[in-house]
Amino acid sequence: MNLKTFLLISIVGATSTANAAAPIKATSPDGRIAVEVNTNNKGELYYSITRDGKAIVKPSRLGLDLSGATPLADGFRTVSATITETDTVWHPVWGEEAAIRDHHKELKIKLRQPKLAPGRETAVTFRIFDDGVGFRYEYHRQPSLGDFTITDELTEFNFAEPHKSWSIHADKTNYYEGLYRKLPLDSIGRASTPVTIKTSDGLSMALHEAALTDYAAMNVEATPGKASLKVDLTPWSTGEKVFVTDTRTSPWRTLIIAEDDGKLLLSRIMLNLNEPCKIEDTSWIIPQRYVGVWWDYHMRTATWKAGPRHGATTANIKRYIDFAARNGFGGVLAEGWNKGWEDYNFSFTEPYDDCNMDSIAAYAAQKGVGFIAHHETGCRVDNYEAQLSDAMKYLADKGIHYVKTGYCDYRLLNNKEKHASQYGVRHFRKVIEEAARNKVAIDNHEPVMPTGLQRTYPNLMTQEGVRGQEWDAWNRAGGNPPSHTVTIPFTRGLAGPMDFTPGTFSFENPIVPQTRVQTTIAKQLALFVILYSPLQMASDMIEHYEANPGPLQFMGQCPTDWERTLYPEAELGKYITVARKAKDSDDWFIAGATGDDPHTATLRFDFLDPDCKYTATIYRDGPFADWESNPTSLTIEQREVDSNSLLYIPEARSGGFAMRVMKKR
Ligand code: CA
Repeated sequence: MNLKTFLLISIVGATSTANAAAPIKATSPDGRIAVEVNTNNKGELYYSITRDGKAIVKPSRLGLDLSGATPLADGFRTVSATITETDTVWHPVWGEEAAIRDHHKELKIKLRQPKLAPGRETAVTFRIFDDGVGFRYEYHRQPSLGDFTITDELTEFNFAEPHKSWSIHADKTNYYEGLYRKLPLDSIGRASTPVTIKTSDGLSMALHEAALTDYAAMNVEATPGKASLKVDLTPWSTGEKVFVTDTRTSPWRTLIIAEDDGKLLLSRIMLNLNEPCKIEDTSWIIPQRYVGVWWDYHMRTATWKAGPRHGATTANIKRYIDFAARNGFGGVLAEGWNKGWEDYNFSFTEPYDDCNMDSIAAYAAQKGVGFIAHHETGCRVDNYEAQLSDAMKYLADKGIHYVKTGYCDYRLLNNKEKHASQYGVRHFRKVIEEAARNKVAIDNHEPVMPTGLQRTYPNLMTQEGVRGQEWDAWNRAGGNPPSHTVTIPFTRGLAGPMDFTPGTFSFENPIVPQTRVQTTIAKQLALFVILYSPLQMASDMIEHYEANPGPLQFMGQCPTDWERTLYPEAELGKYITVARKAKDSDDWFIAGATGDDPHTATLRFDFLDPDCKYTATIYRDGPFADWESNPTSLTIEQREVDSNSLLYIPEARSGGFAMRVMKKR
């Protein structure tokens, strides 16, 4: 590891009196982003952020209201301010690139409240990157600060203007499965993060959090007429926000500040602010593309519960395993394998009588396919936690390394607590850790919004928390509109991998006829590359894949773990083009997608090895392709390309393209 940390400055006794507080300043490594921290005459703490001298966040309050202890809200004096610089490179177990640089300056401000809480020392720490800022509160255990309760987090983000923004409403959106609303910042009400923001002078920003491990998820509340957002934590059912016991830091509050939408997508602030990997042997954490006994349930050709049309039978799962092995998929999911679907009182160790898990696990292993089990909890968390250890051990004993967890049915955990509350966060963390002990990787559906925890626990591979393609099966209002899939990379996608489940090839819906996948088939392939997930599901029934061997071939070859990622073109809500280099391979996979309007992708190949020729196999919208009138028109062609090539690739309405670019031998 090429770690270098320098102590740049240490200001001791930074302010001798609360009234005459000199501002404390620090900048990003390139000097363009600056953070300034001040106290006012009440000893309240404020921070501001500028970029190239222009205000990004105007003076904004910091602090925590508590019960059980003197609030961390006012009466502050700064004791010392220390600035250090760190420049390291680390290597994620899986991801959108093989190496991630963490280059930041850290400003740590030690605080005292001499009159209110004599002897108590706390801190606020900023990390300033060239593409944004993170900060958190630190409150170590001490005689004047034992266990306490956070009743409100006072953090504000006073932006320079009520910029354009994209967010989902925190209370009106179940499981974060909403369409992102484009609104001026002062009109967003109470929003979940990420909140994506575009300034009038062209900056792309996103407000979110990192390393949410034992705290409530962050929401922000807007004030009409003001460009100000205030943190509003998800409460417990009893009203408290956070019970502070062992974990003595808040999550990081993060603001990406990027020059355009493409650079927004390449920011790794959230991952850099999470702790390094805690799992020693990660050899069993294997990125995969997978298929599953699943879309049949939505099309009502099969049932989760046992009966004449039971989906998860031994024979049907083996049929999927055969299909996966034949077509390049490394995993098979089967929902409905375990007892309890009749009343949602699930057993996680008892398969239905027609589902022989020993036989399935052995068959999958023999075919080189990983079986993906399913734990739908129905939000009965008490029932799940009571069985958790046995449930994970059951999987481990059968050599099963993946499980998809689910928390639907009730809108609340145990019919009581919110998914995004500290209760939910603690539960999800418990599941991740118990799974890791048993070498089981997680695909968490109906999760709390991700915050980069996969760096620490890479067995947390993917999560839902997004309005996925299943909405195109049953949403009676028509499904996901064309712009949705070119909006979520810039919004929800900033929080980490999404189990959106692209790859539906059928455009007819016998169950909800007014609803269908609102893309072309080429865009379905493109989404397989664009919407990053290390466990990437091809969502459709295998009958529909077998009828479309051409496009199926692309999905069966597309990796889910990358050496490098580039965004040649990106415009939130309009279009996106991504180029990804496969890990341990010379192959590139490139894809583009557009929303409501047709688009012509301009693609230069200057990232290719200049000394080599490549063959590109291109899957693009065919003649007269159109998501509404002609979604299946697809052209598959081969072109020779090199680092000087330039291609213009037409994309139909809600269309796109995908290509595999292979080095010639
Ligand atoms: Ca769902």
